[in-house]
Amino acid sequence: MLVSRIEEGTVIDHIPDWKADIASRVLRLDKLAKMQADVSVVILQNVSSRRLGRKDIIKIDRWHVDEKDADILSLVFPNITVNYIDEGKVSKYQPKVPDSIEGRIRCPELNCISNTEREPVIPKFATLKRERLLQCHYCDALLAFDSVPEYVRP
Ligand SMILES: [Zn+2]
Repeated sequence: MLVSRIEEGTVIDHIPDWKADIASRVLRLDKLAKMQADVSVVILQNVSSRRLGRKDIIKIDRWHVDEKDADILSLVFPNITVNYIDEGKVSKYQPKVPDSIEGRIRCPELNCISNTEREPVIPKFATLKRERLLQCHYCDALLAFDSVPEYVRP
């Protein structure tokens, strides 16, 4: 499939097939499109892959996805690869599970202090890597890595 090369931007590769919409939600690409008029996003779905059989790819022209957002995406899809492109040159970024995550995900416990409007507390989680869980810093609520897309803050 032919899609023009990107000179500046980000390519998120090896997303499981038909999951690009979830990846796009985790990366908050809709917000990005509203903020940046000259950013374009190309989503390729069900592309043949030697490694995965089938995969999705997201190409973002003229925008570098924040490494922290790429790390959060790798909680959900551990096999993703991230390529940053600058003036046509590609550099790979290997996303890693961070020790803690601040601000980007909300706590699943509605009564948590980080969910109350009067207390402007930034949500904060520790990652339990072996169990594939996030643990809220304030209320100890647990959130499975796989459920992260439902709790990404807008
Ligand atoms: Zn909490």
